[in-house]
Amino acid sequence: MTHIVVLGSTNMDLVAYVAKAPRRGETVTGREFRTIPGGKGANQAIAAARAGATVSMIGAVGTDAYGPELRSTLEHSGVDTDLLRTIEGPSGTAHIVVDDEGGNAIVVIPGANGTVDHLAPGDEGLIASADALLLQLEIPMPAVVAGARAARAHGVRTVLTPAPVQPLPPELLTATDLLVANEYEAITLTGRTDAVDAAGALLESVPAVVVTLGAAGSLYLARGAEPLAVPAPQVTAVDSTGAGDTFVGALAVALGAERPIREALRWAAAAAALSVQRPGASASMPYRSEIEAQYT
Ligand code: ATP
Repeated sequence: MTHIVVLGSTNMDLVAYVAKAPRRGETVTGREFRTIPGGKGANQAIAAARAGATVSMIGAVGTDAYGPELRSTLEHSGVDTDLLRTIEGPSGTAHIVVDDEGGNAIVVIPGANGTVDHLAPGDEGLIASADALLLQLEIPMPAVVAGARAARAHGVRTVLTPAPVQPLPPELLTATDLLVANEYEAITLTGRTDAVDAAGALLESVPAVVVTLGAAGSLYLARGAEPLAVPAPQVTAVDSTGAGDTFVGALAVALGAERPIREALRWAAAAAALSVQRPGASASMPYRSEIEAQYT
């Protein structure tokens, strides 16, 4: 079975639903409040576990009430949390106000995620035993770089999601095998104006790039290979939150199973299409049998 390690964030999303978001100094009464476990690291871990891999999560939760809940959410999807540390203090939280027009305003407090700034004992050994290491940018950059380097040293495939988008240090790019960015991230990283140009520019720094294009599917470019455009299944989307993380998790599982890249991208697109048809981020992520049924 494919073994995937995720080095990244866990967050509790604290979501207030309100007709109109308050302005500075204003107090409004909202309609509903929900706590939703998230964080790009945890989301990718859950996506990959449900897609059929053995998954281990490296990161940290706090000693507040959210810590045990974030851990058990991962465990319920079968993610191994032995190296998910518990750090004195708050867990990572995202404070989100969603208005009736679907607009949102978000404050992220890294909490325990901010303490993940290096590899701890045991991390490198776990990474060395994996088929792939999934990285995002919601933990401090030194840990992301250290993780990528450890993976590279042990011949483990590294898959990087550059979110939240920020300049990427050369030492991270040289240890990245596959960069999976959405259109906004690809354009922001490169300063280009369209996804194809941006993917081409990214290829100067990493050997392979996927740019995801929402309902328009994805684009794959690799050095020395023909570009591939893979459509997304046409579905009625109700909530695209977590689509990107579902795509990455499933893609890593398919690549770990040695599926050819076109098939792997179509399999990931099938998984992401299932997730957008259901509400929630990790809650909407499909299980392997569902992906197989959707994949044609
Ligand atoms: P998010 O931030 O919502 O998690 P993202 O911005 O990182 O997503 P997208 O490019 O929007 O990433 O979507 C990732 C993949 O999910 C797409 O390549 C596609 O396969 C699938 N997807 C997203 N939206 C749709 C949709 N409306 N219909 C079908 N597939 C979709």
